[in-house]
Amino acid sequence: MTSSLSFEYLLTPDGLEHGRRVVVDAHGMVTAIEPGGPPYDGVLALPGMPNAHSHAFQRALVGVRDAGDAHSFWTWRSAMYKVANRITPEQLEVIATEAFREMLAGGYTSVAEFHYLHHLPDGHRGFEMAQALIAAARASGIRMTLLPVLYQRGGFGQPPLTEQRRFIYESVPEYLEFVRALRGRCVLGLAPHSLRAVPFEALRALRNALADSTDPALPIHIHISEQRLEVEECRQFHGRSPIEALHEEVGLGPDWQLVHATHATAHELELIRVSGANVVLCPLTEAQLGDGFFPAAEYRASGGRFAIGSDSNARIDAVEELRCAEFGQRLRLERRVRLGGSAPHEPLWSLTANAGAAALGQPVGRIAAGCCADFVVLDHEAPIFAGLSPEAWPEAWLLAGSAAQIAACYVGGERHDHYGALARTGAPPRFARVMRELLA
Ligand SMILES: [Zn+2]
Repeated sequence: MTSSLSFEYLLTPDGLEHGRRVVVDAHGMVTAIEPGGPPYDGVLALPGMPNAHSHAFQRALVGVRDAGDAHSFWTWRSAMYKVANRITPEQLEVIATEAFREMLAGGYTSVAEFHYLHHLPDGHRGFEMAQALIAAARASGIRMTLLPVLYQRGGFGQPPLTEQRRFIYESVPEYLEFVRALRGRCVLGLAPHSLRAVPFEALRALRNALADSTDPALPIHIHISEQRLEVEECRQFHGRSPIEALHEEVGLGPDWQLVHATHATAHELELIRVSGANVVLCPLTEAQLGDGFFPAAEYRASGGRFAIGSDSNARIDAVEELRCAEFGQRLRLERRVRLGGSAPHEPLWSLTANAGAAALGQPVGRIAAGCCADFVVLDHEAPIFAGLSPEAWPEAWLLAGSAAQIAACYVGGERHDHYGALARTGAPPRFARVMRELLA
């Protein structure tokens, strides 16, 4: 059965269109955009933002302080492992449901879930943890691409650490067997964790297995070039910086999703752009962890594209994530307006949403026929939009707004009113209970 939604303004790839009716089929896909009139379902609808990088379980770490005196990424990681290793499938489902609900409230209508907490706390191998994420996505209503992670080592040439035992798949065939067994349960992508956790032989084996497969191309996500220490270790171990090494040893292409890429050199930016690979920035997490600045302005100016992710999920708000990216570049370069497109129909929001489609491996991030009916509707009564024409709303929202100006979101044409629900109620009792258990 088809349905339709009418909006006074709709941000499509052609720009801001006035008075449009969006026809949605029984699978939640847009089949047509036609002229339409009142009554409207909202004043301005934007494409829902794909969240291109998330570790849902890390929602349980908000407020967990890192230990030790270095206060670096690596001490934060130790604190994270302590909590992570206690999480059961039941607890993961509750935490992820809360994280996904907050994503829908925060402007994200789909998520690429980078999942490495595979095994049970006692080491038992099964599908319970992945199944918990699938159940959480269903319960919340968010669209998900699950990215089972290949994690093999504790560092360049190092055996895994004891506290990484729940993440480990020793061999590529064993990992691919796990991925194949998940087929039919959810949309999938692949995620070799990082160059420090996966050697080149394994990356090439993964690549070859994909090349031999008749399945449609899956997105391949990897953490890369996030921390200076990791870049330095890669230079010592492989004689090259991480992105350059990955390109030369394995080969970049449009299916590659390079998460962070913070310390990419000018040469590496060019390799990314020419290969058609995507960068996934996580500005709030990168700021929290003190990672550094990705040269996003230069990369954008040369035609590069990036998606965004909420990564550690300490703060889940898509427009705030974008503002952190934009303001970071302004601070870095002492100039204004660094990342948005030059045309008015290319606000930073839609450019970024568009780049999220490759990361999800799904037709998301655009309002167009053939794409998922995933939208974010802005609150036309919000004070920050008062007196402005809808053309100016995305810019005003980027500069001054937050999730609080989201009136509703739609996933596959279905309305979700999570912001209102979150604003009215406190933490769900199940979530509060799990957090007490984990942090006790
Ligand atoms: Zn990550």
